[in-house]
This record gives sequence, structure tokens and C-alpha cells, in this order.
Amino acid sequence: MKKNRSILGKKKCYGCAACVDVCPSNAIELKLDENGFLQPQIDLSVCLNCGLCSRFCIEQKDVGLSNEGVLRMYAVWSLEPEVREGSASGGAFSQIAISFLRKGGRRVVFAVGHFESDVLHHEMFFNECDFVRWQNSKYVQSDMSGTYKKVYNKLKDGYLVLFSGTPCQVSALNLYLIGKSYDGTLFTIDIVCHGVPSYKLIEMSSRLTGSSISKFRTKDAGWGLEAKRVVYKNGVVSKKHSDDVFYLMFESDRFLRKSCYTCPFSRLPRVGDLSIGDYWGDLSFLKKEDVEKGVSLVLRNTEKGDRLLAIVEHSINKIETRNIEDVLLNNPNVFTNSSELAEISDSDKLWLIKYFDFRYVREFLVFGKIGGYFLNSKKRNRLIQQKRTRVKDMVSNMKSVL
Ligand SMILES: Cc1cc2nc3c(=O)[nH]c(=O)nc-3n(C[C@H](O)[C@H](O)[C@H](O)COP(=O)(O)OP(=O)(O)OC[C@H]3O[C@@H](n4cnc5c(N)ncnc54)[C@H](O)[C@@H]3O)c2cc1C
Ligand code: SF4
Ligand code: SF4
Ligand code: SF4
Repeated sequence: MKKNRSILGKKKCYGCAACVDVCPSNAIELKLDENGFLQPQIDLSVCLNCGLCSRFCIEQKDVGLSNEGVLRMYAVWSLEPEVREGSASGGAFSQIAISFLRKGGRRVVFAVGHFESDVLHHEMFFNECDFVRWQNSKYVQSDMSGTYKKVYNKLKDGYLVLFSGTPCQVSALNLYLIGKSYDGTLFTIDIVCHGVPSYKLIEMSSRLTGSSISKFRTKDAGWGLEAKRVVYKNGVVSKKHSDDVFYLMFESDRFLRKSCYTCPFSRLPRVGDLSIGDYWGDLSFLKKEDVEKGVSLVLRNTEKGDRLLAIVEHSINKIETRNIEDVLLNNPNVFTNSSELAEISDSDKLWLIKYFDFRYVREFLVFGKIGGYFLNSKKRNRLIQQKRTRVKDMVSNMKSVL
């Protein structure tokens, strides 16, 4: 029997959906599996066994990890209050995308839209007034099916395209475009990524709170790691970050996509022309009121990144940080994946992924909080200390980029 050359049976899958878009017979569809993760499903009855999906799969090729520009880091925030207010951090992405579209001509932005149906999607935007749809972080994986083809079609039509996504999505787009010719120009922004949790967390938090999530972040309590709050559709905003069921589960690092634990894309050099995250480093050089409204971390990785920053120059405040080490220490997902930091054994991860069910999550929240991970502050402090030491060592080994 002829060997199947498709992605069937791949051990590691990032859920990037590039295989969906390269398949000439539309044999692949991305669907949520029983653990709440997006996985490709193949209809073998229409598969041509051409092997294209395997060839364009990022599991076997790292693309775009060779940016070699001078690394610069900035604290950035939008000067337009409504843009900054509704954005996840300082609104750097929203302001860059708005200014990019304002320039006019053939321009399009691809970013993640509102969380409305069962699954989140990337959307195509031509109008800056639509910025509220792409604003803010949505902490689950976006389905990119169809997006690769749309980006390529726009590039063929000569458009300037601004694409944002997680580093694996940017890398998958780079691989998809290899060998294709077009007149347009692609600009990419990758989002600093902790990992994407299971869609089940949304279902679980709805069951536990009696309402579904409407926004993953609000600045009702200011901005900062502890100020992060989920807004539920019944209007309830969690009172404390550490009491929010969604964040308890997400930030425990027990429910991330399997590929995120060994993610090769969270590293320096970064994959996008710019990288954007929260500025969790020392901001004591700013006034308190500036910090409280949110500050983005922007990494300039390439010359195209400079071009994006030049477009937005008059609409943002941008302060270059000289203390790159401090930024990396406080935001390790800029250069490493969450597994390095999570203190979870491989058997734990596998166990959790396999037996992920509501009963377990309830036990995790109740007993985890009382006995284990959350309230046992001695253990937690020790883990945080160990993690800081590990991150410090990693940063000091990276002198070449500092
Ligand atoms: C799953 C996930 C994990 C993250 N982990 C970290 C982290 O560990 N450290 C850190 O500093 N920052 C992290 N971020 C990024 C952070 O939450 C903000 O998105 C970032 O600071 C940008 O803020 P902003 O105000 O400039 O963006 P905004 O102007 O609010 O724009 C939001 C941007 O985020 C993109 N986006 C939203 N949801 C998704 C998604 N699900 N997938 C891909 N892109 C998305 C939108 O397309 C848009 O580009 C994470 C984001 C996500 C989605
Ligand atoms: S081998 Fe070819 S036809 Fe079959 S699923 Fe992959 S891309 Fe589609
Ligand atoms: S990593 Fe992407 S291209 Fe490869 S199998 Fe998974 S979804 Fe398809
Ligand atoms: S952690 Fe890595 S693999 Fe997971 S979503 Fe982020 S970039 Fe992709």
C-alpha cells in the first residue's frame, strides 16, 4: 500500500491551519478536539496524497527565525485615549494598524476579531474605524483557515499587508509564502506569547460563573499583571485577578496546547518585523498615571519594523529602553516558552491533557487553591525564586543579543 504523505500522524501540531490552505482538494478542516484544541482533520476519501500539506507544515521547518536586524526595545503607548483605553496594553498594535490604514491606497490589516462564535478567527480589515474589533487580547487560539490564501491574494494584487498573530502563525505565513511571487509587501507583527489555552477553559469558566466571557481584559482596575480582569456577558467583572477562574486556569500553565510547552518560536531573534507584548519591566521612569493606562513593549526586529514605527511616529509615545536585561527578566516569553518556567513534569502535562474534564477542573480550582499551587505561598515563592534564577541564567547566557 502507498504510504500516506499527508500530515496524518504528525506528532506535533501547532494548529496553524496552513495545511488547510495549501491542500488542493480541500481535504483538511480544522476542528476542536475533545480537549478543546484546534486540530486538522483529513478526509482521506478526497486526499490526492500529494504531500503538499506536509511540505508546508511548520512542524518540520522553522521559518523566519533568522531576523538579524539590531534589536531595539521600546515602551510605547497610543496618544489617542480611546485607542489606548480599549487595548490590551498601550495600544501599540491598534495605533500602528490605524496609522497604516490611514495612509490610504491599497492597504489591508489582518488581525484577530471579536470572540463571538465557538471559535476565534483572523479577520481582514480595510477601515481604521473597525479597530475595536481587533483590539485587546483574546486568550485562545485563532483559527487561521482561509487567512493564508487571503493574504497571498492581496499581496498578488499589490497591497501593503500588515499581519499580526502569534509567532507560530507568523512563521507559518512566512513558510506558506515561500516560492510564491507577488508585487505587494508584507509587514508582520508577532505577539509575545505565553501559549494558548484550551477552549475548554472558556466553557469551564462559563459553567462556574454562570455567564460567558465577553472580554478577556479590561482596565477597570488599572493596568498591570494583578489588574488583569475578565468581563463576563452578564456585566460581572472579576473582583481580583487571583480569584478569576479563567486566569487561575490559564496562568497555572496546566491547560496550554501541547505544542506550546516546547514552542520554538518564543525566542530571540523574533519572527516578526516587530514584536508586541505587555511592558512588564521597570517603568519607574514614567509617571504613575502613564503606567496605569497601559504600556506596550515593542521590539524592533527588522528594517521593515522601522518603517512601521515611522508611520506611527506622531500618534504614539515611544521611549527606548536601555535595560534590555530587565525587560527579558520580567517578560521571559519574549525569549523562551512556558515549559521552561512552569515547573510541570511531562507526565503531569500528559495526564492533564488526557483527562481534562469538568470534574477535574473543579477539583483543581478548589483543592489547588486550598492546598497547592495558589495559596501555599511558601512553595509558590520558592518556585518564583527558582524561576527568576533560571531566567537570570538564561538572560546572562544571551549576551550576544543584549
Ligand atoms: C494567547 C496570548 C498570550 C500572550 N502572552 C503574553 C505574554 O506572555 N507576555 C506579554 O507581554 N504579552 C502576551 N500577550 C500579548 C498581550 O496580551 C497583548 O496582546 C499585547 O501587549 C499587545 O497589546 P496592544 O495594546 O499593543 O494590542 P491591541 O492594540 O489591544 O491589539 C491586540 C492585538 O493582539 C492580537 N491578538 C488578540 N488575540 C489574539 C490571539 N488569540 N492570537 C493572535 N493574536 C491575537 C490582535 O490581532 C491584535 O494584533 C499574549 C497575547 C495572547 C493572545
Ligand atoms: S496530501 Fe495533498 S491532498 Fe492529501 S491532505 Fe495533504 S495536501 Fe491535501
Ligand atoms: S502544524 Fe499547522 S500545517 Fe502542520 S499539521 Fe498542524 S495545523 Fe497543519
Ligand atoms: S506558545 Fe508558541 S506554539 Fe503556542 S501559540 Fe504561542 S507561538 Fe504558537
